[in-house]
Amino acid sequence: MELIEIEKLSEKSEEVINIEDISNSKNSTLNDMIKICRINNGIAIAAPQVGIFKRFFVSLIDLLNRTSNPTLYINPSYTKIDNSKKVLSTEGCISYNNGKDKYLVERYNIIQAEWYYFIGDNKLERMTTTLDGDLAVIFQHETDHLNGITIPNKGTYIA
Ligand SMILES: [Zn+2]
Repeated sequence: MELIEIEKLSEKSEEVINIEDISNSKNSTLNDMIKICRINNGIAIAAPQVGIFKRFFVSLIDLLNRTSNPTLYINPSYTKIDNSKKVLSTEGCISYNNGKDKYLVERYNIIQAEWYYFIGDNKLERMTTTLDGDLAVIFQHETDHLNGITIPNKGTYIA
């Protein structure tokens, strides 16, 4: 497994329906994604970045519990919280010069995040929570990847 060419990152990913959409061997796919993320000093990695056009991402931070446990987010989506202001966040992306290129991207400061996780192999359970600050940025950045949106599309190159 490796990072795919950036030209392919504009493709939209498809909804995850069952465990085969993630992989026949879920654990090795996720472990490989985590490995690539760590090698590039990333915080999170979305499936299309490694050529899997399905709606999921892995974050090295557990966004719900705010701990450093790699966590899987399936079919994620977000909406802004009513009084959330937009903030400018400085972001890198491991697909662009291994995260070394930085972009200024407009993000919501607070979001209502929703995603699913597997109970067993075929039952998806819904989870929803409020995220703010850096955690909200991670969630927005990765969910955007699943819609084919990257930081060069959405932001301004700064260095
Ligand atoms: Zn990215």
